[in-house]
Amino acid sequence: MKAHIIGGGFGGLAAAALLIRNAGVSGADITIYEADERLGGGFFLGGSAQSGYNLPGSVFDKEFRCTFDLLKAIPSARNPSISVTEDFFAFNTSEPYQDRAHIFDRDGRIVHGPRFGLSMADGLGLARVVLTPEAMLDGRRIDEFFSKQFFSTEFWFLWSTIMGSLPRHSAIEFRRYMNRFLYLFGELSDMTGVMRTPLNQHQFFVEPLVAWLRPHDVNFLTGAFVRDIGLARSPGRITVDRLDYERGGVATSVAVAPEDLVLVTTGSQAADISPGSMTEVPRPRPSGRSWALWERLAQGRTDFGNPGAFFGTARIPDSLWVTFTVTDTGSEFINQIAALTGSEAGRGGLVTLKDSGWVLSLSVFHQPEIIGQPPGTSVWWGYGLYPDRNGEFVRKPMTACTGAEILEETLRQLRFDKQLDAIMASSICVPCYMPYVNNIWLPRRRGDRPPPVPEGATNLGFIGQYVEVPKEIAFTIECSVRTAWEAIYVLLKRGPAPPPVYQGQYDLKALFNALRVFL
Ligand SMILES: Cc1cc2nc3c(=O)[nH]c(=O)nc-3n(C[C@H](O)[C@H](O)[C@H](O)COP(=O)(O)OP(=O)(O)OC[C@H]3O[C@@H](n4cnc5c(N)ncnc54)[C@H](O)[C@@H]3O)c2cc1C
Repeated sequence: MKAHIIGGGFGGLAAAALLIRNAGVSGADITIYEADERLGGGFFLGGSAQSGYNLPGSVFDKEFRCTFDLLKAIPSARNPSISVTEDFFAFNTSEPYQDRAHIFDRDGRIVHGPRFGLSMADGLGLARVVLTPEAMLDGRRIDEFFSKQFFSTEFWFLWSTIMGSLPRHSAIEFRRYMNRFLYLFGELSDMTGVMRTPLNQHQFFVEPLVAWLRPHDVNFLTGAFVRDIGLARSPGRITVDRLDYERGGVATSVAVAPEDLVLVTTGSQAADISPGSMTEVPRPRPSGRSWALWERLAQGRTDFGNPGAFFGTARIPDSLWVTFTVTDTGSEFINQIAALTGSEAGRGGLVTLKDSGWVLSLSVFHQPEIIGQPPGTSVWWGYGLYPDRNGEFVRKPMTACTGAEILEETLRQLRFDKQLDAIMASSICVPCYMPYVNNIWLPRRRGDRPPPVPEGATNLGFIGQYVEVPKEIAFTIECSVRTAWEAIYVLLKRGPAPPPVYQGQYDLKALFNALRVFL
């Protein structure tokens, strides 16, 4: 039996590890096809200390059950005598977030008040979304359930900047996030319970997994774009019999036997991302490659989902972020932000500038964020939830700005005017255009995402963010690992079933914690 995994992001890598660990498949019988030259997908690490790093900023919690179960077996890059899971929890226990200042208004004041600014009516609105069965939320938007005022509360800024949602986004996903993270509700402003990696996610999650898969002889084909897979015709059954890929300009067709397995990553939040520099605006680079195979497979049928609900130029305005990573050889910024927030680097969680046109959020990482980061250098990250709006000091949309312009707007928003020249001189700010990063939040209908194993499929599974597993939330590696685990479990009928998705609404402690906000 051979296994073909299309996509070398965390989901594809996890699928390979699960095949070995849960289903006893030999690594030598597994091939991962990755269109990019590098593995890791959304958990990328680009640039260098000299040119400025480019990476995503991410958060997690203790209930990433599939992920941390899998990573129990994978040695940590920082300390190979313990697992990635042990390293993650030890770090978050010894150095938890202590977010003392999360939301700032235009006068530089910390916004924090009773009930996170929520009224009883807002509380009822939240209860209404949670109590409405998901089947009745098809295609509906969050703003259908709340007054306009709700979207200017402290709660909304806390929630939307940690989770990524906009008022026009999916009520289904919002409901799932509420249930999944209800237990964080009471301490949302200090981010108690929210966790992060001690290093960037590429080196903390991706590299150790690859290092574990290599000695198992898994075949990695990077720079290999899978153009098509062939489906044998037989009534009521879907069986892959062929896989076509291109690598280095050479097209290759691989025969797939009925007992083989093909797992397809149906898309990527990192599709078509494009970095800029201090002096260059990041230019869109549309290629559509990350979802081209899904589009091809779903053509003319409804059981493989609807890629158009998430991808294509019409989706970009509601899904786009501009992120920026700052590499700073000075100490002025780190000192000033610590003085402003009362938290040392890496302990403070997000800083959101709520009245900035772009709604900027910043995260100062635990240093060093990167293995090999030069001593004395610090790396921090930010993003704009509304990159299409004008900045206040740089009166342009964030999408039209160079790294220097984004950094200037951010520093002026922070009122670091006196230190501005010094920080600008010691920093490299790399902006990154991410047209589809937030598309998992777009309003969707049942059937827009296919299940991990479509009806009748005998050797075909779907994995990643654009795959439907009841109750599971997207924008998480957990979703990718769970879909892989589920597909393997259903198709091969080997190993344990995935653990259930944590649901706060059935956890009395979580419920009480959430209700306390309103008492
Ligand atoms: C800015 C940002 C912030 C994030 N924050 C968080 C967070 O806070 N918490 C969290 O848990 N997650 C976060 N994520 C999401 C996380 O990165 C993804 O959940 C995870 O990387 C998804 O893994 P995946 O393998 O499913 O998809 P991806 O990592 O997107 O990888 C899919 C891969 O498949 C490849 N591919 C697609 N089609 C083909 C083809 N036909 N042939 C060959 N290769 C193909 C693509 O090139 C891509 O490399 C964040 C992501 C970004 C970008």
